[in-house]
Amino acid sequence: MSLGGPGQQLELVGLELVKVIVPLRHPWKSAAGTLSERESLLVRTVLRDHDGAPGGAEENEGWGECAALPWPTYNSEYTDGALAVARQYIVPALLAHAVASARSVAPALDWLKGHNMLKSAFQMALLDAELRFSGQSLASYLASCSSSGHRRASTVRAGVVVGLTSSVGELLGQVENFVAEGYGRVKLKISPGRELEAVAEVRNRWPQLVVMVDANGAYAAGGPASAAEQLAQLEEYDVACVEQPLAADDFLGHAQLAQRVRVPICLDESLTSPAAVTLALSVGACSVVNIKAGRLGGYLEAVRAHDICAATGAATWCGGMVETGLGRAANVALAALPNFSLPGDISASSRFFEQDIAGPVELGADGTVTVPTGPGLGVEILSRAMERFATVRLWQSRS
Ligand code: MG
Repeated sequence: MSLGGPGQQLELVGLELVKVIVPLRHPWKSAAGTLSERESLLVRTVLRDHDGAPGGAEENEGWGECAALPWPTYNSEYTDGALAVARQYIVPALLAHAVASARSVAPALDWLKGHNMLKSAFQMALLDAELRFSGQSLASYLASCSSSGHRRASTVRAGVVVGLTSSVGELLGQVENFVAEGYGRVKLKISPGRELEAVAEVRNRWPQLVVMVDANGAYAAGGPASAAEQLAQLEEYDVACVEQPLAADDFLGHAQLAQRVRVPICLDESLTSPAAVTLALSVGACSVVNIKAGRLGGYLEAVRAHDICAATGAATWCGGMVETGLGRAANVALAALPNFSLPGDISASSRFFEQDIAGPVELGADGTVTVPTGPGLGVEILSRAMERFATVRLWQSRS
């Protein structure tokens, strides 16, 4: 069934793959590499309604964003690989089966293993296009899909990730600027031997700030016992959670670690499906969940993960991947669900970009971001920026 409205029959007109390279204001360094520009794969879909509009067919387009980085260093997906898989397998399959509904994407691609971030981009594009027919916002639709009973916030608390820096002084300077802008949460990247000083300094200077740390699996080599010894040193600094200390597939190791340290464990890379979220919570591998729609396979799967966490009392927050205004707007819509209890990677477009391709997403004076209420994603493509930053455009129509 389409989301367009009662009786509405939507038809897939075509799909476009768009690769963009959007310059970042400042290089952003993480364990996955240093980004100086955001190379992203976008998906555009066009749907047509033959019956709904008086006087003839009406078309709407929708946009999705693949969260994959330019390199396979966060997970196995990367932009050019995603482009190849989309071109060779996904676009032909969705066109052949005339998939005109976001809910049909996962079943239609069930045979294609992995590539969650890419599948999510197609689902997101169809959600955006479908919801534009009914005038419903993505936030409103996701809330209607959730067991939380249509409840959603109108603003979400903003948080920011601080990249790896060459010195603690540089890091403190960045945190100072973010706090002055209104951000109420910072997430610091940590690795063995580099966890204490920065965290202690930030905590001492900003006692009220929500501080999280992300290890991106950096403690895997020593195993849970060694990780516990090092991470226990964070206990006195009121850290909201330590994210992904061990390897992505090490659920039991994380469960052992959680027994040994009082800082709550959060998982990111490990959680590749709602079933993985259930597994992690069942074995005690984490008590905090980073809900990242692309990694989970889509925004509909992210709502299921949110509901699993709500049912078990796990704290959640919405993770980001340095998305453009498209993915950023969708993340804000998701983060409006009621069980997002901690501020997520929800920052303004200006955190990363001088010129975004959609939006912009802006930070309010109270340190929140307003949830878009317009149809679909609720942000529009900034066409001059898109023309400037698009390096590949491949359109395929059904006919
Ligand atoms: Mg992470």
